[in-house]
Amino acid sequence: PPPPMYAATAPVAPPFADRPQPASLDARAISAWFGARKVLDRVSLTMQAGEVTALIGPSGCGKSTFLRILNRMHELVPSAQLAGEVLLDGQDIYATGRRITEARRDIGMVFQKPNPFPTMSIYNNVIAGLKLTGKRAGRAEKDYLVEECLTKAGLWREVADRLNQPGGALSGGQQQRLCIARSLAVRPRVLLMDEPCSALDPTSTRVIEETISELAAEVTIIIVTHNMQQANRVSDQCAFFLAEQGQPGVIVEYGPTDAMFGDPQDPRTADYVHGRF
Ligand code: ADP
Ligand code: MG
Repeated sequence: PPPPMYAATAPVAPPFADRPQPASLDARAISAWFGARKVLDRVSLTMQAGEVTALIGPSGCGKSTFLRILNRMHELVPSAQLAGEVLLDGQDIYATGRRITEARRDIGMVFQKPNPFPTMSIYNNVIAGLKLTGKRAGRAEKDYLVEECLTKAGLWREVADRLNQPGGALSGGQQQRLCIARSLAVRPRVLLMDEPCSALDPTSTRVIEETISELAAEVTIIIVTHNMQQANRVSDQCAFFLAEQGQPGVIVEYGPTDAMFGDPQDPRTADYVHGRF
């Protein structure tokens, strides 16, 4: 086999001198429609900087839609309509003149199905979003960033000697961690994760859960999960979404994770977190 293209020791120059800082996210009275159909009704939720928020609730209650609204991803669906505000550290990401690319840069996203660029090298996958930042990075800076982000994503040790291999050659769990590294390289202040472990084995799931807990110091995390143990393990705050028969989705209850699991106020929350529906 050819020798590895990239050295495994940390090079000299980080492309970003500053440490990443998590931002708060404040969703205010979010309503959403697909065509004539209303799928969210006045959903409000404050996500504190540096915390992990878990969005829980049955399928179809609008969790993914809500998550996508948090970084304007829903705008890719032509029939989608929105009312309400999303404030990133107090600034409305939907304000006139604010560009969608700014929201995408500040607020990263990881999907259920790992989606690295399959034929692109692991190294190039990590830095694929760098142009969003407007920073120019030389080779040493890129090397640094690749090692830093792969380390944060819990993947560095497994791939350090084969960074030139294609992203698609990795296992599912490794691919998802590569996607996390790719998001981190853009220096997001918030990271949205839509059921990031649903397609993964338990071992990969645990590695990603550990990563989430460590990342919260520098990026605010919002994670959709169907796994109640996972919500309990990784989150500081939980929000329980529900769409009652024919109704748009609402947040029934939200609060500190301990309280949501230990002392839920709404009987529907209690039923859901205890797996009764
Ligand atoms: P969850 O993530 O909680 O399962 P979603 O946000 O995916 O829920 O979906 C909420 C509702 O919006 C569902 O009824 C779903 O069918 C509908 N929906 C989601 N995406 C679209 C879309 N692109 N076009 C039309 N309806 C959609
Ligand atoms: Mg969903």
